[in-house]
Amino acid sequence: MSDLSVDPTEHELTPQPPHGMGGAKVEIITSRDVPLGGLRSMKVKRTLPQRQRSMIGAWCFCDHYGPDDVSVTGGMDVAPHPHTGLQTVSWLFQGKIMHHDAAGTHAVVRPGEANFMTAGSGISHSETSTQDTKVLHGVQLWVALPDEDRNMLRRFDHFAPELTKFDEGEALVFVGSLLGETSPVSTFTPLVGAEIRLNPGAEFTFEVDPEFEHGLLLDAGSIELEGVPVARAELAYTGIGEKTLTIKNTGDDMARMLFFGGEPFKERIVMWWNFIGRTHEEVAKAREEWQARSERFGYVEGYIGHDPKGMEWIPAPKLPNAKITARKNPGPVARPEMRIG
Ligand code: MN
Repeated sequence: MSDLSVDPTEHELTPQPPHGMGGAKVEIITSRDVPLGGLRSMKVKRTLPQRQRSMIGAWCFCDHYGPDDVSVTGGMDVAPHPHTGLQTVSWLFQGKIMHHDAAGTHAVVRPGEANFMTAGSGISHSETSTQDTKVLHGVQLWVALPDEDRNMLRRFDHFAPELTKFDEGEALVFVGSLLGETSPVSTFTPLVGAEIRLNPGAEFTFEVDPEFEHGLLLDAGSIELEGVPVARAELAYTGIGEKTLTIKNTGDDMARMLFFGGEPFKERIVMWWNFIGRTHEEVAKAREEWQARSERFGYVEGYIGHDPKGMEWIPAPKLPNAKITARKNPGPVARPEMRIG
């Protein structure tokens, strides 16, 4: 996935009365619609990064899309584009995506399977929904790499977790440890990630790492986290220090959500377009090297776009006139009064 919004709109933060019922404090992060490009410009709902909060643990990007009728939206067609200093994590609920990258990976991304692409110092990739995909529905997340690992060689990891069943529902733990399951995927900072599904009426309390901050993205159904209603496509944030969290399915259908978290990321990052660095100069250099089709990003073989006249690679946008500064992130404490108005 590629970030086309180089000049995101600023939002006003309007204080609202706290609406929690006790237990963990919950901060609601609402999404904004962002066009992804492609033939008919499929739209995604972006909850991270935002002015309100730019990271949860090392998770620094969250795009939620669908369920989309591909005959209407055109599906996903993202031509080769670069990344630095991050991992992309693709998680689908429905449909399939063909992934090609400069690490030599040619993978079909399927529902319920995690695909981690680690950019290291540079990678390029393409993503297209497959010909037989009628409905596309999923999430793409990015994870910032810590300084000591961010210049590593590019790589790709795939993991298909087994379904974990419990009285109130079921889960797929794709990274880290949760509900007694541990994913074998290696991480560069402590992380957790899982799809959780809860039965109608179920109230589910589960243990979490108190060193972690967490986000809960509601994909389908109707829930409350710690007594706070969460609407579809909202990201409900809880800070560090919590030992358990309670989710209630308040609807008549199965509720589905994506749960992710990690230890608060300690470094300040500079994030622009598809690059993560530490300074403006680093990001500017990555941009220049991508425009020059440098070896740094390798070469993507196998990309076939949906539009025969479409672009063969995505050029970087112009750099802003002002110096790109580090992302601001509030402390790892939920602020229930913050709500985008
Ligand atoms: Mn991408």
